[in-house]
Amino acid sequence: MKFGTKVIHAGINPDPGTGAVMTPIFQTSTYAQDAPGQHKGYEYARTQNPTRSVLEQNLAALEEGRFGICFSSGMAAMDSVMKLLSPGDEIISTNDLYGGSYRLITKVYGKFGIKAHFVNMSDTAEVKARINDKTRLFWIETPTNPMLNIIDIEKTCALAREHGILSCVDNTFASPYLQAPLTLGADMVLHSATKYLGGHSDVVHGAIVVRDEKLAEQLYFIQNAAGAVPGPQDCFLVLRGIKTLHLRVERACQNAERIAHFLNGHPKVSKVYWPGFPSHPGHETAKKQMRHFGAMVSFVLKEDQYAAAEKVLSNTHLFTLAESLGGVESLIGHPASMTHASIPREERLKVGLTDSLIRLSIGVEDVEDLIEDLENALK
Ligand SMILES: *Cc1c(COP(=O)(O)O)cnc(C)c1O
Repeated sequence: MKFGTKVIHAGINPDPGTGAVMTPIFQTSTYAQDAPGQHKGYEYARTQNPTRSVLEQNLAALEEGRFGICFSSGMAAMDSVMKLLSPGDEIISTNDLYGGSYRLITKVYGKFGIKAHFVNMSDTAEVKARINDKTRLFWIETPTNPMLNIIDIEKTCALAREHGILSCVDNTFASPYLQAPLTLGADMVLHSATKYLGGHSDVVHGAIVVRDEKLAEQLYFIQNAAGAVPGPQDCFLVLRGIKTLHLRVERACQNAERIAHFLNGHPKVSKVYWPGFPSHPGHETAKKQMRHFGAMVSFVLKEDQYAAAEKVLSNTHLFTLAESLGGVESLIGHPASMTHASIPREERLKVGLTDSLIRLSIGVEDVEDLIEDLENALK
């Protein structure tokens, strides 16, 4: 099955009881048993829910995996991966990681004796140099947020495998339409389904997809034991969002390309980060592992100060000033004070995340209107 068919059909069948074409929202906490232990595969809704099962199967197919495991948020999904580790284990991750992921690794798991090294993961040699006999996990995010650096998934995951290290790719920014990390050697793929998968800024949800049955068993165990499960209504919303994933991401990528070129030629802009430019250091890798270059664009103003950024941020009308990304509507954000406020300023500046850096999540509106909106705000 090709991608555009999978989003609509994979794991999804009309409800056997009623023929309902749309997967019903099974809003129940428990299920009747015929005799003790005799049930239809569903006992208690933390452990199993039919709406969630359909979504888990659909996600597994989209990511070219075998098992999908859903959570109440992207962070809850990541938290479950972290629970695979033990005190003394070490992680290697990227130095411009999503702020919430950085916070979970350092502030929550740091005190349980898990040590993390944050390096420039675009450089495989830097990653290799940090490997020791305690390294258990590579945490990869590509494209990175908000600098849009590209990490070579195939090379980095091969390095992990060579050393018996687990690898997890946060595929939130690309979506499974653009990039399939499991086919490139990753052990786990993670999504904040809050973003492109849900796609309509109306739900918070997370998921992991894997191929290995043992790993899946461990993650299902954690899902049930810790209980950060999504409700059935949230699963329904993600399922409904996924049906147009390919159409939305395709259009958003086309819009992003136009906007990246518009900003690149603008007199008030000093730098545009978008992996589609041949001058972008990760361009060739992006071309190799992604279908398009994504719908996220970041840029820095010539007047590299917060006050200048603030003027742009408060003067757009179509671009809404808000956290998050990946919805049908375009958003504008200021990582230094919003999504990445939990990262110390000197750490931010080291990776180029300056005070005037603005991040755009491009939606599916008419691109001429979006460009006009940015033009006016920059004026
Ligand atoms: C939003 C996001 C997360 C966290 O997901 P939530 O659903 O907000 O918990 C993790 N990684 C990336 C790249 C994100 O953008």
